[in-house]
Amino acid sequence: MSKFFLTTVAFFLYSLPLAAQSSPVRSPAFEQLLKSVEHKYIEAANIPVPRLAKDAASGDVKDDRYWVSVWAADKYERTKILETGVDIIEIGDNKISGIAHKNTLPILSEKGFVVEDKIPLSSYITTFLKDFPPEDAAYHNYDEMIAVLKSLAENNSDIASLYSIGKTVEGREIWNLRINSSVKGDAKTDKPGAVFMGEHHAREHLSVEVPLLFAVWLLENRNREDVRNYIYTLDIHILPMINPDGAEYDISTGKYKWHRKNMRKNPDGNIGVDLNRNYDFRWGGAGASHYTYSDTYCGPSAFSEPESQAVKRFMEKHRNITTLISYHTYSELVLYPWGGIYEPVENEQDRKAFIAMAKKMAQLTGYTAKQSSDLYAATGDTCDWAYGELGTFAFTFELSPKGGWYSGGFYPGPGVIENTVKKNIDAAMYLMSVTADPHSAAK
Ligand SMILES: [Zn+2]
Repeated sequence: MSKFFLTTVAFFLYSLPLAAQSSPVRSPAFEQLLKSVEHKYIEAANIPVPRLAKDAASGDVKDDRYWVSVWAADKYERTKILETGVDIIEIGDNKISGIAHKNTLPILSEKGFVVEDKIPLSSYITTFLKDFPPEDAAYHNYDEMIAVLKSLAENNSDIASLYSIGKTVEGREIWNLRINSSVKGDAKTDKPGAVFMGEHHAREHLSVEVPLLFAVWLLENRNREDVRNYIYTLDIHILPMINPDGAEYDISTGKYKWHRKNMRKNPDGNIGVDLNRNYDFRWGGAGASHYTYSDTYCGPSAFSEPESQAVKRFMEKHRNITTLISYHTYSELVLYPWGGIYEPVENEQDRKAFIAMAKKMAQLTGYTAKQSSDLYAATGDTCDWAYGELGTFAFTFELSPKGGWYSGGFYPGPGVIENTVKKNIDAAMYLMSVTADPHSAAK
């Protein structure tokens, strides 16, 4: 097929959800969204050269971070490395790879850690960028996500409503598509609740696609017996973008910035707090970084950030919520508490349920189930807080790829979306099957 034809098809398919906003209103179709993603991918693959040239020419922001490899024997050493301010991204047998600010390097040496390799992140980005500049963004940016969510809510107004749980540092709304046959907006219900949230971390764009396309699929299949049953008996919340400021910043210049945190301007001028270290459960303890320049900076205090505060208010109001998945990338893992301490969950019944659910969801996705702190101890994350404070069965999913920067890392391209979304629909459907009684998972 000619490139022109592909471009035309891609444009036509991709513009459907937006076109659907005008009347007559149409829902974005799940298969069409996936198809648009495929075509965009083909199109992108055909034009790598202009894209890279454009990246190289785009206005560079000074980036003082490095991609580093550091020797580390076990989870205890990995936790100590985290505390120097390194954001650990990949874990090998005897070493880790991740992102370290230039100020972190002397701290690593002081503590006796050997940095095997370091590459300025700016050169890594230029060399290994796989996809996608704004002009072929098959991934949904903030406005495109809102368009899809609005259209879903309008077309399914009997069972779906869209509302904001709060504003970000820069004033963007954090949207929640609620699917509930009895109540709308922020009203309370007694029905057992399941939550699917994405994009705590800005550069993890695939973590938006999974909950967003799950919402599309769910409403498109609303008359399927199992789906219908969940829609009418459960309280389903889908929040695809907890950190829209960071997500928009990451794609704002046509060259990825590998941004992780929110957009808080810290008093010393460094940008961002790691929202997934900012929750108030053992906050600031093991694995936390207190350096503002670090990618894993936990903030000046627990719940210092409007984004994590919004999630807190939302979760505390809806105490009917029993299950939660917080999507991240990458490594293909299903993680369960505790993340902040090495000990297993104390309550035996809960622990067995966590393990049974994690194993089942790992089987459905092909991922690996693990207690979160088996990787390293890190305090202040969403799931430790949700379980520790509210008793919610909360899981962190690390989506594709499995690892290795040659598979794209945080930027694997749109080619992975379809497979990742479909596998994760199975896991999400399973989670809803045990939302009414999570302990039943272990029976
Ligand atoms: Zn993440």
